Amino acid sequence: MNLIIRELVLKPGYTRDDLLHAAAKRLRCPKKSVTLTRILRRSLDARAIRSAPTFIINAEFALDFNPNLAKIKKCEPALEHTPLAITPATLTHRPVVIGAGPAGLFAALILAQAGVRPILIEQGKKVDERAKDVGAFWGNGKLDPHSNVLCGEGGAGTFSDGKLTSRSKDHLRKDYVLETFVECGAKESILYDAEAHLGSDKLALIIPTLRDKIIALGGEFHFSSCFSDFTTDSAKLTGITVNGENIPTDNCILATGHSARKIYRLLHKKNVNLEAKGFAVGVRVELPQSIVNHARLGQFADNPHLEAASFRLTSQGDCHTFCMCPGGRVIVCADSEGELCTNGMSLSSRAGELANAAFLIPLPPFTDPVSGLDYLAQIEHAAFIAGGSDYSLPATTLADFPNTPADQLPFHSANRFRPADFTKILPEDICNALTTNIKAMLNKLPGASDAVIYGAETRSTAPLKIVRDESMQSVSLTGLYPAGEGAGYAGGIISSAIDGIKAAQAVLGQL
Ligand SMILES: Cc1cc2nc3c(=O)[nH]c(=O)nc-3n(C[C@H](O)[C@H](O)[C@H](O)COP(=O)(O)OP(=O)(O)OC[C@H]3O[C@@H](n4cnc5c(N)ncnc54)[C@H](O)[C@@H]3O)c2cc1C
Repeated sequence: MNLIIRELVLKPGYTRDDLLHAAAKRLRCPKKSVTLTRILRRSLDARAIRSAPTFIINAEFALDFNPNLAKIKKCEPALEHTPLAITPATLTHRPVVIGAGPAGLFAALILAQAGVRPILIEQGKKVDERAKDVGAFWGNGKLDPHSNVLCGEGGAGTFSDGKLTSRSKDHLRKDYVLETFVECGAKESILYDAEAHLGSDKLALIIPTLRDKIIALGGEFHFSSCFSDFTTDSAKLTGITVNGENIPTDNCILATGHSARKIYRLLHKKNVNLEAKGFAVGVRVELPQSIVNHARLGQFADNPHLEAASFRLTSQGDCHTFCMCPGGRVIVCADSEGELCTNGMSLSSRAGELANAAFLIPLPPFTDPVSGLDYLAQIEHAAFIAGGSDYSLPATTLADFPNTPADQLPFHSANRFRPADFTKILPEDICNALTTNIKAMLNKLPGASDAVIYGAETRSTAPLKIVRDESMQSVSLTGLYPAGEGAGYAGGIISSAIDGIKAAQAVLGQL
């Protein structure tokens, strides 16, 4: 029989044999009676700073005997692993997917698997060509509005830490996403690690393989193809305009992400129902990784079997950390002339000497759906000016925040930055909330008072959503399936990919 055993405790650096040994010990049977089938979940327990951190593992084993389950702690019979079922379908027109981020790519994959040969429209370039544009932008500040850190194949999170954490309880679709990443070259441990991440270097290899898979199944990619308008008849979608030409379609998954502000404005102008939602703004804080490791792992901070540690901090609901990048670097992002924002990225090794995380202040929904876009654009323009109008990131120290730093920054990973006064970038209430909260929150990390601050963090989530019904279609335009983070129903790589899958299933009538 196959059995799931929960909460096996193993030391960092454990081997497969150690895992079998731990299972056999729990079962009180010889090790040779136990075969590891798969690991289901692995998390690091580093709560007790004085004792060595341990991995807590849930795994499935095949046994050559029938155990008495009543006498064994934390175990249950394994259920069969049912993969997501996609059945062949036929549609009148080939479906169109706009946007090659996680939502668009996974929507296209599902549609291709069902045999309906999706057409994927992406304003940016293939990931390798895009990487060259991004490198040039970070070097000389020359922006290509269609090919940059936020736009292009792979979507917004391609130059990121590639964190795969998600609060989604949709295990079936989540497993599908993770298994697809593994098929496309990700390491197997992402299937079970509680804090799984890919890293920008791995993402850049995985995405072209995913593209090839979609093409092999009959999908078609159109890069450097910008969607700018659409046609309707009696509140039904009839076509979309791409690079000035009309493509007839009655099934279009709109996965343009939350940076596509022009698309929100187009939808608003054409009376597609939008609704304001809460969002957040703030700054990115950088500090030495060794401080985080010591705060989390104490005397075990240098254990070679442990990855760079991360943190998640909140303060009484006023401020929270977001998107921490251990061993990473702070980056400047932009997709519009005269506006910039900041974010973080890391490589799969997370081996850099600095760590960074966003510290955000939540904001309630604005009354008008698109006024949140104006608010964010104003901050991004002010950040551009404060950074010297050449796409350098405004920066200061925690000690000086929100004012211009008195001295040089003690360290920095961003290659384009300029000392700046944050009172000229962020509204006063945000500056005040950040000043009080960041210092109080970093008190939990001894030695972190030397942190560096970059601005501004404006792209953590969309300030509005494109209202859709249970069929995943816009409530005001049949045939338009808003999906992913831009639709306002997802956030992050995994949940956006899951949302894209659901939209594709809805198009196929298989939701
Ligand atoms: C720097 C950075 C780091 C991040 N790090 C992480 C992380 O570690 N983990 C995590 O879970 N999330 C991370 N995120 C968030 C994550 O990237 C997003 O949640 C996710 O990419 C959203 O997926 P999406 O497919 O909905 O949209 P997007 O990824 O934004 O993709 C939208 C795509 O649509 C295209 N597009 C837009 N307008 C048009 C148009 N008019 N015509 C044609 N194409 C268009 C864009 O070029 C883009 O490629 C990060 C984001 C950024 C910016």
